[in-house]
Amino acid sequence: MNFDLSPEQDQLREAVRALGRRYGHRYFVEKARAGEHTSELWHEAGRLGYLGVNIPTEYGGGGGGITELAIVCEELAAAGCPLLLLVVSPAIAATVIHRHGTEEQRKRHLPGLADGSQKIVFAITEPEAGSNFHRLATVARRDGDDWLLSGRKCYISGVDEAQHVLVVARTEDAASGKLKPALFVVPTDAPGLTRSKLDMEILSPENQFLLYLDDVRLPADALIGESVDAGLPALFSGLNPERITVAAMGAGTGRYSIERASEYTATRAVWGGRTIGSHQGVSHPLAHAAVQVELARLMIQKAAALYDAGRDLEAGVAGNMAKYSAGEAAALAVDTAVQALGGAGMTTEYGVATLLGAVRAGRIAPVSREMILNFVAQHVLGQDKSY
Ligand SMILES: Cc1cc2nc3c(=O)[nH]c(=O)nc-3n(C[C@H](O)[C@H](O)[C@H](O)COP(=O)(O)OP(=O)(O)OC[C@H]3O[C@@H](n4cnc5c(N)ncnc54)[C@H](O)[C@@H]3O)c2cc1C
Repeated sequence: MNFDLSPEQDQLREAVRALGRRYGHRYFVEKARAGEHTSELWHEAGRLGYLGVNIPTEYGGGGGGITELAIVCEELAAAGCPLLLLVVSPAIAATVIHRHGTEEQRKRHLPGLADGSQKIVFAITEPEAGSNFHRLATVARRDGDDWLLSGRKCYISGVDEAQHVLVVARTEDAASGKLKPALFVVPTDAPGLTRSKLDMEILSPENQFLLYLDDVRLPADALIGESVDAGLPALFSGLNPERITVAAMGAGTGRYSIERASEYTATRAVWGGRTIGSHQGVSHPLAHAAVQVELARLMIQKAAALYDAGRDLEAGVAGNMAKYSAGEAAALAVDTAVQALGGAGMTTEYGVATLLGAVRAGRIAPVSREMILNFVAQHVLGQDKSY
């Protein structure tokens, strides 16, 4: 058993950390408050090869795995820049296209995802289906060689800054007549695709949207894979990278907030010469949060290693556990940091309360803590499904 990173992974971690610190949380907050995107950071990370670390070299990427992408997500978040679109564009979209797209789709999309010049966001959630993707109602119908997509999606992140959205729809299976999932790469400026921005209580430069698909016409090669049979495996292939990278973002955010609080409590003194950090009522909750974050990081490392070794089923269990523990640890860490800073914790200047909305959302999205507990109860503990 080896818990050490390889020298290359260590270098990647150091380099991404340095990049993240050069921008920092203040930059992230200013962009969010101005309603702007963190494009400078995104494009610089792309030029330096960090956005494409998990994409094969023949398509312009770094040839690494989800372990490397998780390092990028964690270190940017640990510098106060948790970039949600890392989870959808390089983690979900690039994996789905690499593993299940046609060669022509790989050549068309992967180089742009690798250098960050293109973003593909991901749309599965629907108003009436929510956590139950079996109820998806967005339908894809054939019209000659073309496809026509109709339906509604909600909470879709980053549509305003992406060139394409990977839409999960349903097609009718010719043999059984049953609806089965299929994935389509839809240009965000396609006629019939409209969006409206949702007002969210999350301070973030990335926005969520309602999407309306009204007979959006797509050419045959917008369908991921050679046939609709690629749909279900393609959909599942995006889940492990999504869970592992979002967990890494949570762990990085947890580290960031505990670091801010520890710096503060180690120097602030309001009772004679004693620092507030010397009071265990302050230091123990921080230490407890640090333990939770470190446990989550271990699970992330395990899940990423299993995934990169091609052990998808085991990675599914570990990835869900990593996402659960990192989501809980990040929320605990930010809340504990705010408390440890007292009034300063609620100011913009100290930069921790600015993360409260994001870490709260991390317990709901992209998969809620309850749905993970359902998964663990059924697949690890052998319990009956209640729904
Ligand atoms: C910031 C943010 C960004 C997002 N970005 C995207 C995106 O880019 N693309 C995308 O497709 N979606 C996105 N989502 C949507 C997200 O994936 C969903 O919000 C999430 O899957 C939960 O679905 P829901 O909101 O419909 O909740 P619901 O399914 O309505 O669930 C509501 C509550 O009930 C609980 N619940 C539901 N069913 C069960 C059950 N069987 N057992 C126990 N508890 C249950 C849930 O855990 C939850 O707490 C985003 C959401 C947020 C908040």
